[in-house]
Amino acid sequence: MTSQKLLEKAVIDGETLHVVRSTWRDAAGLSFDVYGSDGAGLTDDRSLDYRPSLDDLRGLLEQAQLTAHFCRFCGKQIPKTDPPRIVSMADNGTNPWCCADCWDDRLW
Ligand SMILES: [Zn+2]
Repeated sequence: MTSQKLLEKAVIDGETLHVVRSTWRDAAGLSFDVYGSDGAGLTDDRSLDYRPSLDDLRGLLEQAQLTAHFCRFCGKQIPKTDPPRIVSMADNGTNPWCCADCWDDRLW
């Protein structure tokens, strides 16, 4: 890789996504990667070879949210097999997910 450039920050559903363009010396073309505000890669499996549209970003974000939730209290990843526990009073734009260990019925 020869250079990386932050192309844009897009805010979708309260989450800030960073679109980064990478230029490669040996390979033709460019690749694009998307990162969440916490630095987690949304395109770790496969970089995009086109600049993602807002719809693409929304799709990536939804996919990431389906596959990984992190507890807002302890930061632990919540297994997909767990029933979803969502803190109803979580502020808009903050992580509403809670793991089984931190869950309290008063959070409902
Ligand atoms: Zn927790």
